[in-house]
Amino acid sequence: MKRPEPFEIFQPASIQEARELHIHHGPGGYFLAGGTDLAIAIKEKGLVPRYVVDLKRIGSLSGIRENADGSLVLGALATMREVEISRVISRRFPFLSQSAGEVGSIQIRNRATIGGNIANATPSADVVPALLVLEAQVTTSTQNGEKQVPLESFFLGPGKTVMERGDILTEIIIPPASANLRGEYIKFSPREMMDLAYVGVAVALLTDGDENVCREVRIALGAVSPVPMRARKAEAVLVNRVINEESAERAGEAAASECTPISDVRASAAYRRHMVRVNTKRAILNAVCGRPGNLPWVARRERRY
Ligand SMILES: Cc1cc2nc3c(=O)[nH]c(=O)nc-3n(C[C@H](O)[C@H](O)[C@H](O)COP(=O)(O)OP(=O)(O)OC[C@H]3O[C@@H](n4cnc5c(N)ncnc54)[C@H](O)[C@@H]3O)c2cc1C
Repeated sequence: MKRPEPFEIFQPASIQEARELHIHHGPGGYFLAGGTDLAIAIKEKGLVPRYVVDLKRIGSLSGIRENADGSLVLGALATMREVEISRVISRRFPFLSQSAGEVGSIQIRNRATIGGNIANATPSADVVPALLVLEAQVTTSTQNGEKQVPLESFFLGPGKTVMERGDILTEIIIPPASANLRGEYIKFSPREMMDLAYVGVAVALLTDGDENVCREVRIALGAVSPVPMRARKAEAVLVNRVINEESAERAGEAAASECTPISDVRASAAYRRHMVRVNTKRAILNAVCGRPGNLPWVARRERRY
């Protein structure tokens, strides 16, 4: 691990102050949240910041709250651990808690923030597919005031987002959702822990009656395209059809056909595509069967495949 060059660290107490520091000191500055991506970039990937603006003293960026209309607001500094164990999230969207619980180790989750996971814009970011199927919005503080964008339009490419220099991601908003919404997130990484997703699949759906006729469905894929994506062809396969092995299989095939994975040290493109097919089917069927509470790690792993 490389010893970093010296750089200045600022610790503002407000969003306004943080933005001003960035404007005043000019290029070469980075915002710091949990540091689990930034510290690695500095120590192992040769990033040399001129200065760092630490956001952690800005109280307004923290917390998770439920509004009267049923929407949820997650502060950008909410840690993965907080998202994982939040009562309101576990009750309403257990698959989102689970996606946060899939990140690294407990030490990493105690530092890593949801805002950092999104701002870093890695295609394999674990919480992003679950947030995409919840149609989350992202709020940023910019030079021209606050902006809200759908998470789906936030990413421009690996490591690239719509944020401009000096913009701060402040919160993630999950709109009100039906109490009957059911979902699932499956992270595929053969090492099981402390590894990035080779493929991530999230599903959220609403069904009618005992027959499980699909009324609404959203499917999102991670790590198989330059940005996390909605699998709309796969969704179209299911709408107004009974969800069963056969329709889930066809939706899996559609998802595999619309993603654009690459080959890298972790997996070949063909293997990733295959796992999209298999895990989209599994996620759909798991979502329909329901989730028995917030399962511990081993139980989650056992029921995953
Ligand atoms: C050992 C290890 C295991 C990991 N495992 C996983 C894993 O399984 N799954 C996974 O998805 N990730 C994993 N990660 C990556 C990392 O933990 C997550 O991406 C984490 O959520 C990043 O959040 P952070 O608060 O640490 O971000 P930081 O490192 O503080 O910041 C990351 C980037 O985002 C910018 N940024 C942060 N917050 C804001 C903000 N509010 N506004 C504007 N810009 C901001 C920073 O300037 C920086 O460029 C792992 C990392 C490590 C070191």
